[in-house]
Amino acid sequence: MSEPASLLEGINARIAQAAKIARRDVSEITLIAVSKTHPVERIAPLIAAGQRVFGENRVQEAQEKWPALRDANPDIALHLIGQLQSNKADEAVALFDCIHSLDRSSLVAALAKAMDKAGRQVPCFVQVNIGAEEQKGGCAIADLPTLLAEARAANIPLAGLMCVPPFGIEPAPFFALLDKLAEDHGLAGRSMGMSDDFETAIMLGATHVRVGSALFGARG
Ligand SMILES: *Cc1c(COP(=O)(O)O)cnc(C)c1O
Repeated sequence: MSEPASLLEGINARIAQAAKIARRDVSEITLIAVSKTHPVERIAPLIAAGQRVFGENRVQEAQEKWPALRDANPDIALHLIGQLQSNKADEAVALFDCIHSLDRSSLVAALAKAMDKAGRQVPCFVQVNIGAEEQKGGCAIADLPTLLAEARAANIPLAGLMCVPPFGIEPAPFFALLDKLAEDHGLAGRSMGMSDDFETAIMLGATHVRVGSALFGARG
């Protein structure tokens, strides 16, 4: 087996094991292979090994890498996991099947307009700044009810909530908090967990885990 195929098999086995321990159905959990910074030649073997959901964090990089790969594999789903500028909303709606970084009113307006124009509804996760960090993307927990109401009023399909916990400390309390917020707001999806902590996230309700370096190796 090729290296990417065996790495993918290993991650899928760990996801299945975590789901089993958590008494969850593994089909509830989607692995997003985060291919940011990695070239097409590194991505193609994972597609060949059966992976179909990928994540990128920059619109321009995704535009450069993905059109040819998707023409050859129409069943691929591409998720935007990085911050989105309002002036890129049209491009994001055209290219991505899901957006994980809806975090402010101005972006609700821009995405609603872009979806109307394109006649294409793209499910969105609302990103929450779960550790109340100064520099981090995501809406403040206090602003979440208003932002969700605005997104619902604008007919943006809401997939759930997303977070990136503070770096270097135990993430479990932050995952538990995101899970509770999603439940309180009647949202099904929880996009949480990365290479170092996706099993913990699955224990605490993750429906989408975003795994990069554990699948691709360190980023160049
Ligand atoms: C890069 C990135 C990931 C993947 O991180 P790894 O630690 O490489 O698994 C997940 N989520 C977001 C938002 C990212 O930017």
